[in-house]
Order: sequence, then structure tokens, then C-alpha cells
Amino acid sequence: MPDWITFPNGQRGRRAWSNDPTYARRWQLLLEVAHGQERRPICDCVHDGQALELAVRRTTRQEGAALVEAHHLALMPRQGPLHQVNCTFYQASPREGGQGGYEDGVVEERADGSLHVTLRRGLKIHDQPHGTAVIERDPNERRNAGEPVPRQARMTELGLLHLLWEQAGFNKWHHRIGNARRWWPGMRQRLAEAASDIFVAARQPLSRRLATVGYADPDGVQALRRIAIASEGDWRIMLLGIVDAIEIRDSRNGQFVSFAFDGMRHYDLTIGADVHWHAALTQRFPTAMTSLRHARDQRNIKVIGLVTARVSTTVKDKIVRISAQAEDIALMEVAPTGLIPVESNYELRIANALIGDNRAFTKPLRYDAHRDTVHPDFVLTDTGDRRGTPMEVFGRDDEDYAERVLEKVAYYNEIFGQDDWWHWNAVTNPDNWPPFPLAINQNHRRR
Ligand SMILES: [Zn+2]
Repeated sequence: MPDWITFPNGQRGRRAWSNDPTYARRWQLLLEVAHGQERRPICDCVHDGQALELAVRRTTRQEGAALVEAHHLALMPRQGPLHQVNCTFYQASPREGGQGGYEDGVVEERADGSLHVTLRRGLKIHDQPHGTAVIERDPNERRNAGEPVPRQARMTELGLLHLLWEQAGFNKWHHRIGNARRWWPGMRQRLAEAASDIFVAARQPLSRRLATVGYADPDGVQALRRIAIASEGDWRIMLLGIVDAIEIRDSRNGQFVSFAFDGMRHYDLTIGADVHWHAALTQRFPTAMTSLRHARDQRNIKVIGLVTARVSTTVKDKIVRISAQAEDIALMEVAPTGLIPVESNYELRIANALIGDNRAFTKPLRYDAHRDTVHPDFVLTDTGDRRGTPMEVFGRDDEDYAERVLEKVAYYNEIFGQDDWWHWNAVTNPDNWPPFPLAINQNHRRR
């Protein structure tokens, strides 16, 4: 995936440097020099003969106990679809992706390119929820042909998790990403940058209320403390990480759900939820909950969690202990390598195969959209097709679905042409899938 950036002073750097421990400082220096300059950095994309400019945004970054100034690159307003499909800044038009499942105004792009979202429940503690915690995807729900797909008036926690993942670029994969998705401090910083461009209330970027939990990230521990202390009493916070366990426990006051992220023992943090959450999550996210029942080294899927919680802090022996009471929980299943979201075990197999083949691809995220929205399961971005090559995994075996498959096949044949998209009928042919469309440079790359 091309991610080279040319700075106004002629120097070049790769966006991937932003979360690469070796190059992160050099990248910050390049951005610092470019910030506020009249000429903007550009990627290698050209639209209508013009290079596409990028915005340099100033944020903060946790370093030890201090918040220091940091910078990141962002899209110019409404330019996501103008970038080439394989560019790190490419985003489908909001109407085409999962964001199209919202009513107008739920995700609003502001004049500077940042986003304002209307959440199901605001993060201020006195805000009350509107509607249910998750938009249920009832497998039996029916929609008559021609009936408009319902659109959602508010974003749930799952929708926000998808937005964060997409804005951080974590729904994209190419082989040069390598181990960057295993380095949690880099993950945290990318998420913090994305969250600083998402406003959940007037003058309230999500980054002020979002903390991450992960392995080997002492600065993340400090960031959580700062956010918890600043939010306690007035604001809910959001906690994001790789889920390690969701279990029912007994206490003097009855049963509760104990929620744990990977690496959490360094954070002096406990997360509890009402006991009903266990059944609710099992029903809503069966693949995730099944995986968590297995021993850590036998899980074939990882689970990302976003927890909305009220926090209280106590200080004892100079240690800040944080107690979080979860009010909402969203889960997202991801491939263990690359943390690419997948919606079924079939999709997991395809994601793993694409990663193993060093392919470049995107996983379009559904947000809260109705499942009938036309929406490829993956898009290959290395085939040379400027629109990308859609991939569909057909994995259900019922009559309604068969009808739906025919509709999709007709749609893709018409829009892309019969040979320029890929699909696998996993029900009739569960053991083998058709060969993937070739990458444009596949012959060069295969030694
Ligand atoms: Zn570009």
C-alpha cells in the first residue's frame, strides 16, 4: 500500500513510521516542521491532475506522566474517495460504506475534516440512552424487495468501535504493516489520533474520554489514570483493548460480570458489569464469546472490546486504583494477525489466507447498518482495479439468503463485470475457495 508522503520541504516519509518504534520520532519531526505551513504535505495520489493535499493536525501524546505535543496527518474534507483505493488515506464515500446506514447528521463531517457523531448515549453522566444498546441483527428478519433499508438515528458503541477502527486504518492490511499491529503503544497512538478527530459533543473530542489497555505500554497506564481522574463523577469513559476474559463471578452482593483486557494487570484497573451482560453478549456476539471460553493459546480469533463505563478512583500507598462499572459493551471479532475484523469463521479463513499470501485488502465495516446493505466482505486493493476488487463470502443456507445471493451476484456482475469480483459459496463448497484474483505485481513479488 503506497503510504509515502512528500513534505513541503521536499523530504519524504512513510505514514507507517507513525507507529514504528524506530521511526516514530523522525516522523514527528517531519510533521512538526510542516504544521501550520501554507504548503501542505501530499501523498502520491493525483486527482484531476492535482496532487491531493493532507492536513497536519496537532494533538497530544502521553509520555511518562506528561502530555507532550504530537502531530498526525489527516484527510482534507470530503477527499477520502478521491485517493487511490490502495492509498493509506483512501476511504469509500460515506454513502457507500457502513456509514450509509445512518440517517443524515449522525456522522457529520465538519469544515476542518473532523467528524461529529451522535451517540446512542452521550458520554456525560446525566445523558440517558436513546434506544437499545445494539441494533439487533435478527437472522429471521425479512425485508421485501424494494422496501427501503431502515437507517439508524443514532450510533451505538459497536458503530463507534467500527468508526474508530476505520479511522485508525486498522481495517486495512498490506504485507509491509508487518508487526506494527502487535506493538500496543503504536496502536494506542493511532487510536488516540483517530479519537482526537471524532467529536462526541461540542468541543469534546473522544480522545479526552477514550483510554486503551494493552501489553507493555506504561505510557498507556499513565494515560488511563489521567483520563479516569479527569472524568470521574461527570463523564463516562471508554476503554478499548483486546479482550482476555468475560466471566460471571460471585460477590457478597450477588453475581456480576468480570471483564478483563489483555495486559490489564499493570493498570490497577477492575471492570465489572451487571450479570445480564454475559447472556446479552453471548447472544449478540456468539463467535467472540465462544472463542473466549477457550484457553488463550487455543483461540483462533481475537476479540476487541469497547466498554463504556463510569469510573471511580482511590489512592492507596500512592497507587491509583481505578474501578470501572460498565454500562455498555461492544465486541468485534478480528483475525489474530493484523487485527482485521471478520464477521464469521468463513471470513476468518479468507482473511488469514489473504494475509498469508501477502495481499493488500480492506475490510469494509458495517457499523449499525442493516445486514441487507450491499457491502462486500473484503476489497482487494492490489489488483490494479482503481475501484478495488470486491470479495463476497456466501455462508448461509436458507431460502431468503439464497435470494439475497442472487441479488448480490447480479449487482456485482453489472457494476464490476463477471470476472472482476470474487466470491466463495462456503455452503456448497466448504473446503475450497476459488483462487484469488491476481495481484498486479504478484509475479514480481513471488521470488
Ligand atoms: Zn492518497
